[in-house]
Amino acid sequence: MIPDLKTVESLDALASVAHACTECSLAEGRKNVVFGAGSAVADVVIVGEGPGQQEDEEGLPFVGRSGQLLNKLLGEIGLARDDVYIANVVKCRPPRNRDPRTDEIDACKGYLKRQIELIDPTVVITLGNFSTKLLLRTTTGITRMRGMAYEWWGRFLVPTFHPSAALRGGEKVTDDIRADLAIVRNIIDGNLKYIDER
Ligand code: URA
Repeated sequence: MIPDLKTVESLDALASVAHACTECSLAEGRKNVVFGAGSAVADVVIVGEGPGQQEDEEGLPFVGRSGQLLNKLLGEIGLARDDVYIANVVKCRPPRNRDPRTDEIDACKGYLKRQIELIDPTVVITLGNFSTKLLLRTTTGITRMRGMAYEWWGRFLVPTFHPSAALRGGEKVTDDIRADLAIVRNIIDGNLKYIDER
């Protein structure tokens, strides 16, 4: 059994709990738990879906092709990987990169919630449908959700496409991500005048 995650007082302690986690069957196939990486005091937390093959092998999030594109787009708004914190909805790789199942997301979501509480960022960026639907508790897809900032538990949440969609979908999708990251830059700079009331 895992302890009550609300009582875990540091990211390192939370990572230790996650590294021993067997709360869902993804534990059986993993090489590494991909807990998250970056600054523990980041203004910006980025949430992907789940580790792919390369992430599973290295134990780090977004180190594959999607990660390279993410790094480039973050760089365009003046953010380096070390400035942000990157995590995923599920911390262990789903077999053959299939979508994470509801039971797996439910078993894992307490880690993400506590990561965000401990880091206490100004902005959370959700990449793609899984993280957006989980955090905003919506069934609406990312294409309709993106393009604005939401007020979320006293923070801003900016949903955008997953970089893997940009790798498949080309320049239009990439430009949409750029537009969403420009919203993030505005928030960090203190320039956002309006946020949607949900
Ligand atoms: N895709 C994700 O959603 N997360 C990763 O860490 C890598 C690829």
